[in-house]
Amino acid sequence: MNVLVLNCGSSSLKFQVIDTDLDLIEKNADRRLASGVLERIGSESLITLRAEGKPAVRRATPLRDHRAALDHVLGWLVSSEPGSPGLRALGDIHAIGHRIVHGGERLTHSIGITDEVIEQIEDCIDLAPLHNPANLKGVYAARTLFGPGIPQVAVFDTSFHSTMPETSFLYALPYQYYVRHRLRRYGFHGTSHRYVAYRYRQLTGTAFESTHLITLHLGNGCSACAIQNGSSFDTSMGLTPLEGLVMGTRTGDLDASVLEFLHHKEGLGFGELDSVLNKQSGLLGLSGLTNDMRDLLDEARSHDDRRAKLAIDIFCIRVKKYIGSYLARMNGADALVFTGGIGENSAEIRARVCADLDFLGIALDPAKNDAAASGFEGEIGAADGRVKVFVIPTNEELLIARDTVRCVKDAPRRW
Ligand code: ADP
Repeated sequence: MNVLVLNCGSSSLKFQVIDTDLDLIEKNADRRLASGVLERIGSESLITLRAEGKPAVRRATPLRDHRAALDHVLGWLVSSEPGSPGLRALGDIHAIGHRIVHGGERLTHSIGITDEVIEQIEDCIDLAPLHNPANLKGVYAARTLFGPGIPQVAVFDTSFHSTMPETSFLYALPYQYYVRHRLRRYGFHGTSHRYVAYRYRQLTGTAFESTHLITLHLGNGCSACAIQNGSSFDTSMGLTPLEGLVMGTRTGDLDASVLEFLHHKEGLGFGELDSVLNKQSGLLGLSGLTNDMRDLLDEARSHDDRRAKLAIDIFCIRVKKYIGSYLARMNGADALVFTGGIGENSAEIRARVCADLDFLGIALDPAKNDAAASGFEGEIGAADGRVKVFVIPTNEELLIARDTVRCVKDAPRRW
């Protein structure tokens, strides 16, 4: 079954076409047929399209909106151009899986998209005003271009964390704000944490209920998750993806009084403050250079840049603090799993995060850590470490495709 996976942002569309089915999931033999990114939708768009085993096609074309962008992708998928995957017709796409950022408290599992589900996703727009409307554009575009007959499935970033207890998800605010507005912590990156926890179980032969992990998704956005008995127990992102770890451009944890302070000192309004916290802070704000960890590490190494080093130090220390707090919260964990662009690729950041944690039973095998290059999946911890350490590349699109198949075929979708 060919599943088109769509991830629509406000001016971007990312897609993959994945051949998967219940038996292929069982054998871990799903296949990616094509993938691509369309950026700057609404003006002259930059497009990268790649069919498996063929060179990438790059082009720039004006694309008015998400519908035009999806139309462009579909035209390419069924074209006979040399770089295309050469699907025969649109009928070769059997279902569509959408990444939807916020499912709120009601949408706690991946689900077939009906008018009622669309209404529920719209109800969550207050909670994710930038993301959910953009995600829905993909749903509407697919309905228009494929017609109402094609199954569409919504997979939520928040749903994995719906198992968090009140003790994890409530803020210590007056309780009535939760009752009135569902103001609480939701957590994000759920598809990624869920996928690496599943791979960990596959690699180690661990049963679902016996899975006790700390997963660290370190990319442009960063989050940590405490997984107890297979389910999310606590996570670092909150009402929005701003809370928790230091990220490329986001502050992570912050004393909320900073807002009023900056309002008075700098005359910033709410919109500007939101932009400072979400787009100008984190690694970028601290270093004054870049939000890109690879570039920061280069700066720190080659120019001994003080603020680049400071940004990296603060980033790593925040991750350590979360590891410590989750080990305390869960009375230990069996393993620590690194994923995301930084977690998968940077031996240096992994080494710094794990340094001086031997008291907590965490230690790396330096040779294994250094050898764990891009694409590596496996263990990097010291042989005598009480808490094992793994690198597991995330694959959110694959999980979206698999959930889509399971929803369409009404199969259980526990992980
Ligand atoms: P997103 O959250 O946008 O999906 P990614 O998961 O791709 O982002 O992570 C992007 C981050 O990963 C960037 O900060 C990038 O510099 C970092 N990264 C990628 N490769 C490396 C590397 N070899 N060393 C250090 N950082 C890396």
